Amino acid sequence: MAFLPLNVDVTEAAAAEKLNVDTAETKHNWKEYSTDYEIIEVGTHEYTYWKNFIRHKRTCHISHRIKTVVYYCDIHDHTKSETFLEEIIHSEKHRD
Ligand SMILES: [Zn+2]
Ligand SMILES: [Zn+2]
Repeated sequence: MAFLPLNVDVTEAAAAEKLNVDTAETKHNWKEYSTDYEIIEVGTHEYTYWKNFIRHKRTCHISHRIKTVVYYCDIHDHTKSETFLEEIIHSEKHRD
């Protein structure tokens, strides 16, 4: 009984443990669970180009290709996800 930490409130310790699940000190067994790609349109911009000595204006749509990786940890039975910007896609071919 002398070995027990006397000042620790059990509920508080349990709550702290729960909060710390995602800190670097906690050991997880993250394994890649699924990978998804999605394309999100983020906006448009206008660009100009020359054709037959005439300046033209066109609208180009910009999209982001987002990769979402879901990880699963079987120690704590929880998941986390990370997103990555894989690619910025312009709908029109143009020089900026
Ligand atoms: Zn975990
Ligand atoms: Zn563009």
